[in-house]
Amino acid sequence: MTNCFGKRCIKPMNNKFINLQYTTIKTALPDFIYGDLRDFVKNINLYQPQPKILVEKLAKKHHLPCEMIYLTAGIDEAIQMFILAYGENTFVFTPTYIVYRDVLEYGKKLNTVFSIRGMDFVIETKNLPEATLICLPNPNNPLGFTAQEKVLELVGNNSQAIVVVDEAYGEFAHLSVINEVKNYPNLAVFRSFSKAYGMAGVRVGYIIASPKIIAKVKNKTQWSNVSYLAVGAAVSALEHEEYFSKMREEINESREGLAAFLHGLNFKVFPSKINAVLLKFSAADCAYKFFEHLKKENIIVSRGNGNSNFGLDDTFVRIAIGNQEQMEKVRQVIADFKVKFPAIYHCSGNL
Ligand code: PMP
Repeated sequence: MTNCFGKRCIKPMNNKFINLQYTTIKTALPDFIYGDLRDFVKNINLYQPQPKILVEKLAKKHHLPCEMIYLTAGIDEAIQMFILAYGENTFVFTPTYIVYRDVLEYGKKLNTVFSIRGMDFVIETKNLPEATLICLPNPNNPLGFTAQEKVLELVGNNSQAIVVVDEAYGEFAHLSVINEVKNYPNLAVFRSFSKAYGMAGVRVGYIIASPKIIAKVKNKTQWSNVSYLAVGAAVSALEHEEYFSKMREEINESREGLAAFLHGLNFKVFPSKINAVLLKFSAADCAYKFFEHLKKENIIVSRGNGNSNFGLDDTFVRIAIGNQEQMEKVRQVIADFKVKFPAIYHCSGNL
């Protein structure tokens, strides 16, 4: 069975595969979460809209008043809420995360600004006079990142629009503009427990914005939108920051290790601060052969836009970071690609 929403489909995959198609975290949740959930289970007889226990923890973590935080069922829900509230004329910098295409599902106008320059992701920060909503994941998925000064230039130059900075991978980098939300009334930041705390299935994210923006977007979802069990898992995660910060460090090291390995073999690898690396081949058939070579060895990666991106063509391949054992296998199989297919292999080096 395949689950689909719009153009996004997820096929369940059996265990023999190393599935590096998605940027989910590949390590299982630590045991402490299970124990910590007990107290929350007791209270699931009630509706629990915006539970204070989590809102207060997040407010404290970010040194913000509780009124500037709104919990959502993941960032994807926040994206949809903002599209509904402000998305009449939305601008995004591509290639980027696929859910921003939901602007079209809601019958609104989507403007894309292709932003790969050489080997970097470079956004234009000028005024976009028509824009009502501008969305910028930072770090971006599938590649690149934007320095804080440039993000703030974009926000400052576009006071007519709401600017969303999607920090789904914010904890993997040091680029956050959360501290600036108080200074810019048109800025909203999204955060999530999906990647930084390895809990995509739990579906908890949050909006950081002015009370005025929150008042407008909160009516675009249910009044009690986040499961109280999920809140329990998020609270537990915040009480074990050290564990997750180490997990993120290991993932960053693993990504840099893979990127260096690929550079060493002459692949074109884009800078990344998420748990994935993006490669470009000189032709789509080379990318396809590389993809198929990995697939034959039961390693599934994302080719072209896959199910996660838009704005890429089929010369791109994105490899998400798996656990240590999986990454060892990935390296072996890629090294083997070079040996087995020297004629195809050369097309990785020619852009
Ligand atoms: N934003 C970006 C840029 C992402 O890549 C992803 C997940 N791939 C999300 C948001 C989704 O976050 P969540 O699971 O919190 O909905």
